[in-house]
Amino acid sequence: MKLAVIPGDGIGVEVTAEALKVLDALVPGVEKTEYDLGARRYLRNGETLTDSDIASLKEHDVILLGAIGDPRSVPAGVLERGMLLPLRFALDHHVNLRPSKLYPGSATPLKNPGEIDFVVVREGTEGLYTGNGGAIRVGTPHEMGTETSVNTRYGVERVVRDAFARAAARRGKLTLVHKTNVLVNAGGLWQRTVDEVAPEFSDVEVDYCHIDAATIYMVTDPARFDVIVTDNLFGDIITDLAAAVTGGIGTAASGNIDASGTNPSMFEPVHGSAPDIAGQGKADPTAAILSVALLLRHVGKTAEADRVEAAVEADLGSRGEAPVVTSEVGDRIVAAL
Ligand code: ATP
Ligand code: MG
Repeated sequence: MKLAVIPGDGIGVEVTAEALKVLDALVPGVEKTEYDLGARRYLRNGETLTDSDIASLKEHDVILLGAIGDPRSVPAGVLERGMLLPLRFALDHHVNLRPSKLYPGSATPLKNPGEIDFVVVREGTEGLYTGNGGAIRVGTPHEMGTETSVNTRYGVERVVRDAFARAAARRGKLTLVHKTNVLVNAGGLWQRTVDEVAPEFSDVEVDYCHIDAATIYMVTDPARFDVIVTDNLFGDIITDLAAAVTGGIGTAASGNIDASGTNPSMFEPVHGSAPDIAGQGKADPTAAILSVALLLRHVGKTAEADRVEAAVEADLGSRGEAPVVTSEVGDRIVAAL
């Protein structure tokens, strides 16, 4: 396995080190290339993502990312627009995968959470995030701004298929989350696509939920969800809610996947570079370690992925109130393995 590692900035570097400890303990001999990408390089020479970065990343099987960001990078959003989004499009990461699981010991704000264990498959390249819009009459009282949601049959069908396959491999339930009663054009396309693909996955029960209702169920009855499939914007919102109900940012892992397998998929903790705690050795590397589990599952190393998740679960359950020490978490997981 050829692995590209982008530790990035702030706590990204700290949590990636722990994630690699775990990977090395489980899968010896992974060929790693480390990339100096992110705010550090941008602040040094003004480069975000070059064509040669992309070409070189493409030569790997998978990518592990820490976090990118630094408040000193100006203009605001330069790394998102100059690096993270271009990377997503260059590698065609159309499936954004966000598992949400409530581990014993996690600080859920819910009083009666029940069993929370679901996965959100968020479309990553279309919807309202394509920059398809414009502004006119700016600075006048008649200013107007538009963003048009782009939904193609091709783009929707490939994430819907991916979501069905994941549901078939889990508890066999797929929930489409949208707003089909109001967004009739985009919603109609999503619903028709789900209906048309469904017969190929006859073991999967199909459900539908409006986005507004879904935010309620996520708090009142999250156990009803197994796999959720949704568009880019709804997915952005609901995955943060999902992370909140399962105890927050320290355990949320994600995958950016090219389901066609043409380009390397990328795995990363959901959190950012956390400049407020960077360099203090107290970032929780659990989300990065769980990202390694997702990565291992993606490359077919299911048994190894299961072992990482079991070790994380045991660790979270035995922590108590003790403050997190980044390197100790990785050491404990490695020892448990
Ligand atoms: P970025 O711009 O890089 O996304 P951000 O300011 O949006 O950074 P995050 O880095 O996501 O924010 O952090 C949000 C809050 O959560 C911060 O207070 C941060 O300290 C905390 N936090 C994030 N990740 C972790 C972690 N792994 N362990 C502990 N606290 C964390
Ligand atoms: Mg952030």
